[in-house]
Amino acid sequence: VSRFNDITMAPPDPILGVSEAFKADTNEMKLNLGVGAYRTEDLQPYVLNVVKKAENLMLERGENKEYLPIEGLAAFNKVTAELLLGADNAVIQQQRVATVQGLSGTGSLRLAAALIERYFPGAKVLISSPTWGNHKNIFNDARVPWSEYRYYDPKTVGLDFDGMISDIKAAPDGSFVLLHGCAHNPTGIDPTPEQWEKIADVIQEKNQIPFFDVAYQGFASGSLDEDASSVRLFAARGMELFVAQSYSKNLGLYAERIGAINVVCASSDAAARVKSQLKRLARPMYSNPSIHGARIVANVVGSPELFNQWKEEMEMMAGRIKSVRQKLYDSLCAKDKSGKDWSFILKQIGMFSFTGLSKTQTENMTSKWHVYMTKDGRISLAGLSSAKCEYLADAIVDSYH
Ligand code: PMP
Repeated sequence: VSRFNDITMAPPDPILGVSEAFKADTNEMKLNLGVGAYRTEDLQPYVLNVVKKAENLMLERGENKEYLPIEGLAAFNKVTAELLLGADNAVIQQQRVATVQGLSGTGSLRLAAALIERYFPGAKVLISSPTWGNHKNIFNDARVPWSEYRYYDPKTVGLDFDGMISDIKAAPDGSFVLLHGCAHNPTGIDPTPEQWEKIADVIQEKNQIPFFDVAYQGFASGSLDEDASSVRLFAARGMELFVAQSYSKNLGLYAERIGAINVVCASSDAAARVKSQLKRLARPMYSNPSIHGARIVANVVGSPELFNQWKEEMEMMAGRIKSVRQKLYDSLCAKDKSGKDWSFILKQIGMFSFTGLSKTQTENMTSKWHVYMTKDGRISLAGLSSAKCEYLADAIVDSYH
């Protein structure tokens, strides 16, 4: 008899479980719009040319595989904070940023959650409703309490800005407010610059700490600087803030697990102390991060030539997503005779579109049309080709009505 009899079967992950179900489907028309991973027009995974170039450079140099320090690769930590905040930002000049290399966005969020649990006991993290499915798991496992603030308005398929502001105002002073830096997942709906200013006002009034999750820098608008403008706006006000970064999407380094946690502090002294405690938390969890992805990022961002090529490739990826978004919208308008306004699809940005399909409707998408997507009605446009837009529009129109 097994000692593990009390261990029940865990449910499949709501996002990664979709890919497993997709693999098992033998229908030719099947389409995986579950996970947010970029695909080419032929729906194949894509390795960026700049990544291949950086890897060739690394091979030529014959670099070793010694352990990294706990905080990660120094050259990576430098460029990642600069990419986020801008190299000439006062917070960088004044050494007020504690940057620690993390295991991509998820690991960086988890490390910050551990810091919150240890040094802000009882403080709540406010999370948008809805949000990326893993946020709640991360804070639950770190034993950090959280609650939700309104974000999505189903009536307009847009931002519930008043609801968001009043929920942040109603939350305890000193809470952390988790914000998606750009390309909100799953809705694809971002605040406008004026709305960001108002959000910052409220957070400042409430003495709360903004905690940005930046998983799509460059992927929302195609511009790295523009996509970091929300974070920079808060930093320019002299606020202390957390920022988790990921290179999964913008450099296509999904499996390399490369990202960082940055804590912008009021003084260089505070930043040094925060960094020392982040290292102390990382050491017994995973000791030190892996080197390969960190070297790729350091090489790409650190070389003007590769950096420019990266921007071109990112624009190409963001452009392909924008063009399938337009084509999906056109196909929906042409096929749907009900008079429904589909313009929300064009207003959303980034990799995802929130269709507004209900759970039962998404089940029809999968069982009848072999379109795999998360149950919240999100589709990843990065997994869609122009050639499949009409098929997808048929599936959506059929499922809606
Ligand atoms: N945050 C958000 C909002 C995301 O969408 C993702 C990726 N799906 C992540 C964080 C983390 O991804 P990774 O761990 O691959 O960096």
